[in-house]
Amino acid sequence: MNKFYITTPIYYASGEPHIGHAFAVIFADVIARYKRQKGFDVFFLTGTDEHGSKIAEKAKAAGKNPQEYVDEISKLYADLWKSLQIQNSDFIRTTSEKHKAGVEKFIEKLWQAGDIYQGEYEGLYCAGCENFILEKDLANGLCPDHLLKPELVKEKNYFFNLKKYIPFIKEKIGNNELKIIPESRKNEILNILSANLPDFSVTREKVQWGIPFPYEKEQIIYVWADALTNYLSGLDFPDGEKFKKYWPADAHIIGADINKFHSIYWPALLMSAGIALPRKIFVHGLFTVNGQKMSKTLGNVIDPKVLIEKFGPDATRYLLLSQFPAFEHGDINENGFMEKYNADLANGVGNLFGRVFAMARRFEIKESGLDNEVVKIINETKEKYEKWMENFQLFEALKEVFVLVKFLDKYINEKQPWKSPENLPQILNSLLSGVEEIIVLLSPFMPQKMEAANDFLNRLKSGKIQPDEKLGLFPRV
Ligand SMILES: [Zn+2]
Repeated sequence: MNKFYITTPIYYASGEPHIGHAFAVIFADVIARYKRQKGFDVFFLTGTDEHGSKIAEKAKAAGKNPQEYVDEISKLYADLWKSLQIQNSDFIRTTSEKHKAGVEKFIEKLWQAGDIYQGEYEGLYCAGCENFILEKDLANGLCPDHLLKPELVKEKNYFFNLKKYIPFIKEKIGNNELKIIPESRKNEILNILSANLPDFSVTREKVQWGIPFPYEKEQIIYVWADALTNYLSGLDFPDGEKFKKYWPADAHIIGADINKFHSIYWPALLMSAGIALPRKIFVHGLFTVNGQKMSKTLGNVIDPKVLIEKFGPDATRYLLLSQFPAFEHGDINENGFMEKYNADLANGVGNLFGRVFAMARRFEIKESGLDNEVVKIINETKEKYEKWMENFQLFEALKEVFVLVKFLDKYINEKQPWKSPENLPQILNSLLSGVEEIIVLLSPFMPQKMEAANDFLNRLKSGKIQPDEKLGLFPRV
């Protein structure tokens, strides 16, 4: 059986999950479910990133110790994924013993390769980014992403010899051995690689909350080096069976803001440790909400729980993935959710299924051949859908399904099957076959609703539906 290992970023446990996090996790879950449908043995990893100075500060402000604090936040994430029907194989936490052991082993390999050296770092550091920031990137003296004033940090650090690996990374990205999707993100990385990129710190000196650096205990492993290793420790690196079976990752799903870490630092670290590189890195665009960057200060953070309450988990998954192509940055129009729900789900799929099922109940389903016109469009839809899915273009794949939905709706209107008894069996069977296909194609996106529709259809075909039984698929809101 072919294996498929897919990951999401692990989320920084400094606050509640918002729809940005939900988007990437749903995105990965749809791909994981699609691959399972195709017979792959899938391992799907997500989790939380729980170390660093910002978390220590947040915990202190909340009057908690850091572990207590991250336990609570991490649970919010795990619970949300459950309510969104995310089928992750494991949930990795960077404060777990298994992760810490994996990080120590990984650092040991870099050390043995002679790629870690001691140096001194002086620069501006944004606690929000957990990263050094350049003077030129500041806006009015503040980090533009966090509106925080960065602190001037001068400390002893251990550095990783990135320079040594740059030519190799360039080559592997250039020839798609490490494939970065989309092309624009690949070019962005190739441009960064062509500039004079400095080595980066793998330890911090004055941070308490983290994994101690094995070669000097006063140093803590830099939170990014710690976090990236989750993709290995989640498989029980270095000796676990899962590591042997699933590594290398087939797809890291990440956001555009962390591309550099995943497409440059991570491959360099892996090469140094003598570990195979991931096959693909898929970089999705970032989104604004109603035209503005989502932020607590602006008060426009969308809570996924509110969407789930209003539309249910399946429709929430659909609404988030059908906003704009994931290759691009886009805008989430919160007021557009209701309209989209009614148009695509209540009046689209829900209405079509309702019409076809009602017909199948009213008239007996007799055996017959299928209408070639319908067979043709079903096959075309399937083909295009699969092409998009293989390239992680979920928005485009969904569009294809809705072409089929609209076609079948129009087909009923045009054929008026109830008026032509002689053609009725063929029309009805063609419609049923179209509905069956739609169920298969939409299952990774809306698993619960499609399972209910599939169950209803099967019982309908075998005459087991009760007269008063209804399939309330997507009620209008
Ligand atoms: Zn920042």
